[in-house]
Amino acid sequence: MKNYETTKRILVTGGAGFLGSHLCDRLLRDGHEVVCADNLFTGTKRNIAHLREHPRFEFVRHDVTFPLYIEVDEIFNLACPASPVHYQHDPVQTTKTSVHGAINMLGLAKRLNARIFQASTSEVYGDPSVHPQTEAYWGNVNPIGIRSCYDEGKRCAETLFFDYHRQHQLDIKVARIFNTYGPRMHPNDGRVVSNFIVQALKGESITIYGDGRQTRSFCYVDDLIEGFVRLMNSEPGFTGPVNLGNPGEFTIRQLAEIVIELTGSKSTLVEKPLPSDDPMQRRPDISLAQSKLGWTPQIALRQGLEKTIAYFDDLLRAGG
Ligand code: NAD
Ligand code: UDP
Ligand code: UDP
Repeated sequence: MKNYETTKRILVTGGAGFLGSHLCDRLLRDGHEVVCADNLFTGTKRNIAHLREHPRFEFVRHDVTFPLYIEVDEIFNLACPASPVHYQHDPVQTTKTSVHGAINMLGLAKRLNARIFQASTSEVYGDPSVHPQTEAYWGNVNPIGIRSCYDEGKRCAETLFFDYHRQHQLDIKVARIFNTYGPRMHPNDGRVVSNFIVQALKGESITIYGDGRQTRSFCYVDDLIEGFVRLMNSEPGFTGPVNLGNPGEFTIRQLAEIVIELTGSKSTLVEKPLPSDDPMQRRPDISLAQSKLGWTPQIALRQGLEKTIAYFDDLLRAGG
């Protein structure tokens, strides 16, 4: 029998994407009902195909820039293309998705008096001059560059979340997510982990943008989803923003070398031009998540890469 004390009806926007589909899996495993709303811009039905017959899962094809009238207990707002290639494809739509999408989901949360989670990003720090990045840092963001549709869209969404919280007493939870990787990343979305793995498995050259000395910190998806759930269930009044990411920091060249080693590939490295506004360094300070959520990532880069390589190997063999 359904336990109304502990099981909820939960909306996941962007639920057919990389992170969203893992979140749907986790919420279903925890016994909840899940409504996944996605316009399938970068997400795919393949990511949620295994859930189609699940009795507690429902898929709604919906664009969050339009209003949504449904009844749920909680909302995870993840809808937004996340890779630079995808979010720069239609930058106006990216800003609309972040800003209009946030307004609509906040309006829904307000009507329902539902707790709402926002998937924000380390991009709110821009090309940071403070290292590692703490939540108190206001960031160094170009408002008119090619990354701005995403960075400023996400910054404005945070503003909306905090204004709905102050003005309408909405119960908000804002996560600033650092680079996350794992199975179900889109093979052509241009992000560094998927690019390098696919290139290595196909024996193609590995494309290093710039000199490869820029750094990123990579979190495995299962660790991140654990952080999402802990933040959503954290004490009332704890709004964040809270950094969620793995503090292990690697240069892009190091990442390429590890991927070559783990795949046993004969690929070589080639340098390509560095895209503009590409941040030079990025590493989360996760003290807040550690103290408030008791959360620390458990999966080291090599371990996570092995699982991700296995996923892409299967996908490529299946012709995907
Ligand atoms: P993704 O592109 O795989 O997933 C995004 C999902 O949102 C897709 O399924 C897409 O179809 C959907 N979507 C896009 N626009 C929409 C719209 N207007 N209406 C409805 N659905 C829409 O990316 P992801 O990596 O899973 O990212 C999920 C969220 O996490 C995003 O909000 C992203 O900004 C954030 N994030 C991700 C990372 C990361 O490293 N993966 C880092 C920081 C923040
Ligand atoms: N909204 C929605 N679903 C709801 C309630 C509201 O999609 O169940 C949208 C609606 O489009 C509205 C937006 O959320 O424009 C903001 O709602 P809010 O109540 O904050 O503002 P208002 O309705 O006054 O514009
Ligand atoms: N990058 C790279 N080669 C690629 C794809 C990306 O060298 O084929 C670099 C990119 O320039 C950036 C880093 O890897 O410095 C991470 O890029 P990604 O697009 O994954 O994420 P973001 O820049 O948003 O952190």
